Amino acid sequence: MDFSYTDAQEAFRRELRAWLEENVPGGWLDGDRKLPDDEDERIRFLTNWQRILAEDDWAGIHWPEEYGGRGASLIEQTIYREEMARINAPPQINVIGINLIGPTLIELGTEEQKRRFVPNILSAEEIWCQGYSEPEAGSDVASLTTRAERDGDEWQLNGQKIWTSYAHVADWCFLVARTDSSGTKHEGLTAFLVDMDQEGISTEPIRQANDDRSFNQVYFDDAVTTSNMVVGEVDEGWDVVMALSAYEHGMTSIYSIEQRYEKLLEYCRTETRGGTRLIEKPHIRQQLADFDARIQAAKVSHYRNVSKQREMGSPGPEGSMDLVVSDELRKDLLNFAVNVRGPAAALWENGHEGFDETSGYIRSYGSWIAAGTGDIQRNIIGERVLGLPKDIKSETSHRSE
Ligand SMILES: Cc1cc2nc3c(=O)[nH]c(=O)nc-3n(C[C@H](O)[C@H](O)[C@H](O)COP(=O)(O)OP(=O)(O)OC[C@H]3O[C@@H](n4cnc5c(N)ncnc54)[C@H](O)[C@@H]3O)c2cc1C
Repeated sequence: MDFSYTDAQEAFRRELRAWLEENVPGGWLDGDRKLPDDEDERIRFLTNWQRILAEDDWAGIHWPEEYGGRGASLIEQTIYREEMARINAPPQINVIGINLIGPTLIELGTEEQKRRFVPNILSAEEIWCQGYSEPEAGSDVASLTTRAERDGDEWQLNGQKIWTSYAHVADWCFLVARTDSSGTKHEGLTAFLVDMDQEGISTEPIRQANDDRSFNQVYFDDAVTTSNMVVGEVDEGWDVVMALSAYEHGMTSIYSIEQRYEKLLEYCRTETRGGTRLIEKPHIRQQLADFDARIQAAKVSHYRNVSKQREMGSPGPEGSMDLVVSDELRKDLLNFAVNVRGPAAALWENGHEGFDETSGYIRSYGSWIAAGTGDIQRNIIGERVLGLPKDIKSETSHRSE
């Protein structure tokens, strides 16, 4: 394996850096990185930022060029993530659309669905949410009970979803519902595209421990969608669930973790306690060195997974390794950062700043769960990477198959 970048890849990095210097919102590169506290303003800010990215094809670089992406190689995607983390760029609001829904529609959607929906994902004109989890169906999503019943050309939807990120701002939902109960639980599921702007759908926020309002309960009460909004085949939605999950597990956050580490390192270099710089205190120094080693190891492991993905042509189970490593690293690092800050860590004012350690530490518990819990990712690694036998419980989990 050769980890050095080619001239073309370095040129790609320079082009992106130059673009960011011109286009990142005012003051951001000088350290003024606070997102607006007011929720409406924040949504407007993030939507506008994604629109700016999309205008110059920087919103979904991994997408094919014909859909507004750059057909970027996996190495270019890695460079992109490094650069975005380096400047702590504002997040993209349509993160679910870009990373999960768009690629799934490009792979499995009808031509009509691609034409209708795909262009509006990158530009954030339509924001998406993912309606999989239910109160009794999380890791084991095949147990879901939200029903879809056909009525001529329409489908009527009834049931409840939970933990649905962005549902309160979403225009469309990628929903999995039960269309036939006669077979095993993995049979009789269907994936639908559902317009969120209708009477039969209501959302109720669930606030996270850091006061973020990022996910919701969603109720479907005689909501409606149409037959041309079915993704894949009726009753064969399990294949669609699996395709989307592979994209979900392929996301890594190791670069933003490294960026947080750099910030903490800088703090320890400059801050003193009892006349001694923090970085000179042996227990802090040793911990920092340990985190540095873990981050470098995680990056090398990610590069190896990226190389394999490039060979295979599609995301494999190795993405679960990146998820487990980065989720645990993030939690440990932020826990350490909160301790290093000491009492000052308790002074965080709100949960929307997004970059402070305390809020991040609290949120890190949710990250461990969101794309399938660390336990589920370990099942995938055990069974599909290491070839260990399946245990009975994991056989029921959608994330493990
Ligand atoms: C921040 C956040 C955002 C989310 N966003 C979305 C979203 O946008 N859309 C959506 O559909 N869902 C979303 N979710 C839901 C998420 O996918 C589920 O919470 C997750 O799949 C776990 O399901 P559960 O909460 O029902 O826990 P359960 O599945 O009930 O798990 C409970 C515990 O049992 C363990 N466990 C379960 N099965 C096994 C097994 N086979 N082997 C070993 N251990 C097991 C789990 O690891 C966990 O510790 C989000 C969750 C979070 C925290």
